[in-house]
Amino acid sequence: MNISFKNSEEYYARAKEIIPGGVNSPVRAFNSIKLDPIFIERGEGPYLYDVDKNKYIDYVCSWGPLILGHRHPEVIEALTESLQKGTGFGAPTDSETKLVQEIIDAVPSIEMARLVSSGTEATMSALRLARGYTGRNKIVKFEGCYHGHVDSLLIKAGSGALTNGVPTSPGVPSSIAEDTIVLTYNDIEKYRELFYNQGSEIAAVIVEPVAGNMGVIPPEPGFLENLRKITLQYGSILIFDEVMTGFRVAYGGAQELYGIEPDLTCLGKIIGGGLPVGAYGGKKKIMEYISPSGPVYQAGTLAGNPITVKSGLATLNVLKRKNIYEQLNKKASRLAKGIQDAAQESEYNISINRVGSMLCTYFTDQQVIDFSSANNSNIQAFLNYITLMLKQGIYMAPSQFEAAFISLQHDEEHIEKTVAAAKKAFKKLKK
Ligand SMILES: *Cc1c(COP(=O)(O)O)cnc(C)c1O
Repeated sequence: MNISFKNSEEYYARAKEIIPGGVNSPVRAFNSIKLDPIFIERGEGPYLYDVDKNKYIDYVCSWGPLILGHRHPEVIEALTESLQKGTGFGAPTDSETKLVQEIIDAVPSIEMARLVSSGTEATMSALRLARGYTGRNKIVKFEGCYHGHVDSLLIKAGSGALTNGVPTSPGVPSSIAEDTIVLTYNDIEKYRELFYNQGSEIAAVIVEPVAGNMGVIPPEPGFLENLRKITLQYGSILIFDEVMTGFRVAYGGAQELYGIEPDLTCLGKIIGGGLPVGAYGGKKKIMEYISPSGPVYQAGTLAGNPITVKSGLATLNVLKRKNIYEQLNKKASRLAKGIQDAAQESEYNISINRVGSMLCTYFTDQQVIDFSSANNSNIQAFLNYITLMLKQGIYMAPSQFEAAFISLQHDEEHIEKTVAAAKKAFKKLKK
């Protein structure tokens, strides 16, 4: 298939003169596959249409939020109705309370929540709250988990996991990095040792209960259980960052799926139905520590925006219906098996990790259980595969460290087309 990116190339040339890298979030750049980013004109159901009239089956789904696909009629209807009333008031609306009530009804550990405007704000605020509440400074995160671009969370481990954090990004002061301890995902021994030595100084442990920002890595049996047990022992706050997994891996998120309740939970993505959003919530006695009922300050001019809230409510309303997650999981399972079989046909070793409707293909015959096993897979082969898929009209993130998402509007036909494209891609790769 010969596809042209002429208009995208022209738009990109203009954008990169005045926007750093030509994009408003680095993941949108296609540097990894040596292409210019594709500029999008519109989305419809499972499809993206670019400015060169190419059509793609979309597995990025706006990086997770669009679990109902593009322009779901009920979301569009809610948005249209909401627009008639105004775009925001900087004063409370009852819809905000309704959305928070839906979140409380869905997510087992949340008794009270605050709406914010992005996932980054949710994790940043949850950390501040945990520190304010415990009066401690140190936090623990896991290598390869992404929690937004908060200074103290933008840290990845050096080789010694227990040494103090080194900033991953210039601009993060080492004085901030010092309070962030980075451990290996799924490694409970080091975690136990750390708490044994410094447990009384640790304000919070933050984790993606299913890691979705180093591909997809499920928690091994006992991992989340031990995070919960040991934080309780030492009076530290356990924060589940469910910005991606909330309303994705199950209606009540990973905490419903695995039956572990954190103290605080961060949400985002799906709860805004495609509009900018975030939320954090948890035990009432902790949440009441937030201003104006408590001393920890956190605010947002556009937080709980009425249009976002309506879009979120309409989305959750669809997701609440019977068998929605069974359908999503069945499709994702079919896709995973199809890609696995396609690889096998060409005698390619791949390993697919899937939890619910998020999945990731790694070019390795090893099990991927943490950042280093993800990073040790054949990333160049993966990127070649993604490029071959893109050229057949299959839009997947050009990064080994991102998940592919299934939406309600991917049906059998789209999955089969994708599997057929994968077959061709693996054959070509083999040559
Ligand atoms: C996307 C994401 C964030 C950041 O959310 P933004 O809305 O991009 O700020 C935080 N945590 C996780 C797990 C995410 O997937």
